[in-house]
Amino acid sequence: MPTKILVIEDEKDIVRLLKYNLEKEGHVALSAHDGVAGLDLANKEKPDLIILDLMLPKLDGMEVCREIRKGSRVPIIMLTAKREELDRILGLELGADDYVTKPFSVRELMARVKTILRRSKPGIKEDQLFTAGQLQVDFSRYTVAVKGKPVALSSKEFEFLKILVSADGKALTRDQLLEQVWGHDPAFEIDTRTIDQHIARLRDKLGPESKRVITVKNVGYRFDPE
Ligand code: CA
Repeated sequence: MPTKILVIEDEKDIVRLLKYNLEKEGHVALSAHDGVAGLDLANKEKPDLIILDLMLPKLDGMEVCREIRKGSRVPIIMLTAKREELDRILGLELGADDYVTKPFSVRELMARVKTILRRSKPGIKEDQLFTAGQLQVDFSRYTVAVKGKPVALSSKEFEFLKILVSADGKALTRDQLLEQVWGHDPAFEIDTRTIDQHIARLRDKLGPESKRVITVKNVGYRFDPE
């Protein structure tokens, strides 16, 4: 089955460019030109991935993202026009999976689409259930609970947790985390600060179990299962 990708963007040239490139990769590309229509299509068509512009008529990208997240974990890549907007979105923690600042290179965006789709595909066999203290992670269902209470992680945060847990207590450098979560491409220019932000939010959400995510000075992070 081809992958269905929804592009929500009011700039028609960008929509055309993205559709052309997505279809060239063998995906089915759908598009909407405002937030309301986009949300509607997302609910109806259940796409495998959504590329979502921040500035949209009728309903802006943040609201659209928030609404989608109420009922779906579909991967979302946000498009923003400015670096400041990006910082604001990261701060708001809307649950988007990735962010691209305009003007973006199509090659870069396509590479990110590929990485995210590869990651969201089932098939990597994990230990289904992982428990450490009060923390419970179900890798097959993508659910996390602390003290029996569900914790809502973004898919990036979940990915970080999974990678750290899978490392069996070994420390991972920020570069290793970067590569495993975003895929290796120096063109992405994601700085290590972004990793620290994701880890900070992950810790925040893990509450009393955040102590297991340990900062290894001058290296990166490790997970303490003991
Ligand atoms: Ca726009």
